[in-house]
Amino acid sequence: MKQSLVNLLPPATLAAILAFWAYAPQSWVEGPWAITAMGLGTLAFVQLLEFVFERHEGWRTNWRELATDVFYVAFFYIVIGTLADTLVNSPLGEFKAAWGIGTPWLAEMPYLVQVMVALFVFEFGQYWMHRAMHNWTPLWLTHAPHHHLTQLNAMKGLTGNPIELFLISLGVIALLDVDLNALFASFTVGGAIAAFAHGNVKANPPIWYGYFFTTIRNHSLHHTALSYEDTRCNYGNSVIFFDRLFGTYKEGESVIVGQDDRKRLSIWEQWSFPLRPWLEKRKGAEG
Ligand SMILES: [Zn+2]
Ligand SMILES: [Zn+2]
Repeated sequence: MKQSLVNLLPPATLAAILAFWAYAPQSWVEGPWAITAMGLGTLAFVQLLEFVFERHEGWRTNWRELATDVFYVAFFYIVIGTLADTLVNSPLGEFKAAWGIGTPWLAEMPYLVQVMVALFVFEFGQYWMHRAMHNWTPLWLTHAPHHHLTQLNAMKGLTGNPIELFLISLGVIALLDVDLNALFASFTVGGAIAAFAHGNVKANPPIWYGYFFTTIRNHSLHHTALSYEDTRCNYGNSVIFFDRLFGTYKEGESVIVGQDDRKRLSIWEQWSFPLRPWLEKRKGAEG
């Protein structure tokens, strides 16, 4: 396939997702499976693209990476999703109903506007949460495992310490009045952008796409192995526009990714990472 067509894969994927949710029958939208199938289908699609249009040989996935990635996807959907719904989204929904607050004007807007408002509101929170993680040590300790990744692949956006995964699932989106299909479209579109932003796919999307949305080019720079200081840019998970707005945007790409000595962490090391300073202190006291 010609490179110019490969470059159109990310925007074409977003267009297909938007069209799906615009025309999906109401019974699909309200059922539990369409949103799950669309989310997982998008991840699988970008992962498949990695095999056909590989970006860097050094990021090629293997069975160990793939198994770890699939574990994190399942963990995110089953555990993190349930926790976020029970502890945050449901209470927020009740709060919204009890106080009669909302955005009824938004529900009157065209479908595309609703999708983009939901996406940008959610991503606005993500941007500041992510930026805080790079500026405050206790939060950094939960986010550092994501930066110890030594290669990038489609599902790696969901790889990290469980505390971090819970924190990045938080948002005030439950306070908005939007059509359910627009809300689901915003989730799936955001997920697709993040999958391409971590995916080992040789696509360099058009300038307008990279102006608003995060690409692998800019997100790989955020994962650079150069130094911790060099990772403090391009915080937007899906919407890089906030980095342009708030002065943290940096142009460039990184092929060598990872932190410190670039040692790959096991799942146990990723999960116990925030305890490291304490474990090391204890070890020091014993020795
Ligand atoms: Zn980061
Ligand atoms: Zn990342």
